[in-house]
Amino acid sequence: MDLIIRRATLAPGAAPQHKHTVDIGIEAGRIVAVEPNLAASAAEEIDAAGSLVTPPFVDPHFHMDATLSYGLPRVNASGTLLEGIALWGELKPDLTQEALIERALQYCDWAVARGLLAIRSHVDVCDPRLLAVEALVEVKRRVAPYLDLQLVAFPQDGVLRSAGAFENLKRAIAMGVDVVGGIPHFERTMADGAQSVRLLCEFAAEQGLRVDMHCDESDDPMSRHIETLAAETHRLGMQGRVTGSHLTSMHSMDNYYVSKLLPLMREAGVAAIANPLINITLQGRSDSYPKRRGMTRVPEMMTAGITVAFGHDCVMDPWYSLGSGDMLEVAHMGLHVAQMTGVDGMRKCFDAVTVNAARILGLEGYGIAPGCAANLVLLDARDPVEAIRLRAARLAVVSRGKVVSRAPAARAALSLEGRPSQVDFKLHRD
Ligand SMILES: [Zn+2]
Repeated sequence: MDLIIRRATLAPGAAPQHKHTVDIGIEAGRIVAVEPNLAASAAEEIDAAGSLVTPPFVDPHFHMDATLSYGLPRVNASGTLLEGIALWGELKPDLTQEALIERALQYCDWAVARGLLAIRSHVDVCDPRLLAVEALVEVKRRVAPYLDLQLVAFPQDGVLRSAGAFENLKRAIAMGVDVVGGIPHFERTMADGAQSVRLLCEFAAEQGLRVDMHCDESDDPMSRHIETLAAETHRLGMQGRVTGSHLTSMHSMDNYYVSKLLPLMREAGVAAIANPLINITLQGRSDSYPKRRGMTRVPEMMTAGITVAFGHDCVMDPWYSLGSGDMLEVAHMGLHVAQMTGVDGMRKCFDAVTVNAARILGLEGYGIAPGCAANLVLLDARDPVEAIRLRAARLAVVSRGKVVSRAPAARAALSLEGRPSQVDFKLHRD
């Protein structure tokens, strides 16, 4: 074999048949064996020593055309969504393809080091030059040997509101963009918003493409485009291929209305993506106290059987000045904002940045089992909850069967009389 990872702990649920640690054998970019005491040898062996091995993190919602542009041409002084959009408008004419590619590649380096090996990125198609589209199609090609980059044609200024946007979107798809995006709540009227959903879903159905719309990213409880998105998904037979991103208006909706909406979404097989870091900072901005959190109804949707994932959305761009590609940080924030502090809830937050996100992207061969792609992460944690709590170090990241990143464990050396010489921030009760 090419690589064996010995004494790995798998996430509960991922492999219920394995009560103890297992060895993972990898050959020609595939997992070929998952069993205790694997009787084989390999060119390279890694001892996990009981630490958690998980399939890679997946970010289902990102903006790679804007990432790492923090401070260009100036910073977002208020930190609001509207100043962010204005700032992006100031930056767009100055974008060069080279700089955009360079920033995106740098972000992908960070992602790999964080064990984030699949990203769905929206790309703005409202600039008729389609410069960002060209750049990200090139980035997708360059990172393909180690990272799955899926692109969404995103009409940032509204597919109906912005002249020529639908034509640009179609051109972007022809250039190799994978998914149809939209932004119904940004169209001029509610009726235009609903019309944009129909137009884009029909186009996607005709082309056999997936759909992922920025939908109802607002505190307005009457922003109900998710209802149209679910109805269109049902009408066009696109179950399992359509996603509503953000859905923040659901936070403020009437409970009775939501009790009808959730089964509608479930019936249509529409998935949901919350972006906890961004929702908690951008929503509720015009509230006095109490201030709404603005994140969509994550635990209620999960209970209703809807696939829910968490996205990073932004890292060091006009909307958000923080972040480093760490999906455990995203899960950590989501867990807090959704108050998912029960054991089951915490584990589901881990799923929201791994298996649920992978399902939304339609990734094939995702998982730790024979036959799966050999993409995995060795974390300095014993289980998913500890991984979230510590934002655990990625001791080793394997992509397509090759170790592509290594990092040291987080340890501190102490110099205290009568106390241990080192701490690792884990509970030891033996
Ligand atoms: Zn977004």
